[in-house]
Amino acid sequence: MLKIVVATNNAHKVEELSAMFEGKVELLSLKDVGIQIDPEENGKTYAENAFIKAEAVTHFTSLPVMSDDSGIEIDELGDHFPGIYSHRYALENGGQEKLNKFLSLNHANSKARFTCHIVLLNLNFKGERLDFEGIMEGYINSKVEGEHGFGYDPIFVPNGYKHSVATLPPDEKNQISHRFNASKKVLKYLKENGNI
Ligand code: IMP
Repeated sequence: MLKIVVATNNAHKVEELSAMFEGKVELLSLKDVGIQIDPEENGKTYAENAFIKAEAVTHFTSLPVMSDDSGIEIDELGDHFPGIYSHRYALENGGQEKLNKFLSLNHANSKARFTCHIVLLNLNFKGERLDFEGIMEGYINSKVEGEHGFGYDPIFVPNGYKHSVATLPPDEKNQISHRFNASKKVLKYLKENGNI
């Protein structure tokens, strides 16, 4: 089976991605392959940050390496904001819970989207770079709701839904999410190119 190292220290992320790859690819965490690095994500785009993480790992393995970077963009907050700063924005505004309350009170109904960018390096030959992007469009809820998920899930309503992502069971989120949409493109590529 095709093995890919995922440039993350987050076992949950590897598990979630493995489910999306339908068991057709063996995804290995950095821990699985004994690599200990945590490169600084100082890029200006999701693509740059995903590349920084994946490239750093290629120095330690000859296997293909995959990395993702994601975030939320809330149109009323400005162009692509908080975007790559999604995690930091919550930390700097009293934590995720407090920020979610603020956003639902002050930016309800603003258009918003989650984006996930995946970079895959060294799949067929050394130096090869492949990019994939997945999006989930929606809007900000006027209330905080739901117990599932993480981050901005309690205030994000996907288009076509009436409630926040955090009200959906994980299986259901995983069939519409930005990460799923990006992973689907990777899977399609791997199938079409005979890698799996
Ligand atoms: P990461 O690049 O996947 O680590 O995501 C960066 C940040 O974006 C997270 O810390 C969250 O604040 C936000 N984010 C990304 N994906 C999601 C999601 O599926 N639900 C809620 N928040 C998310």
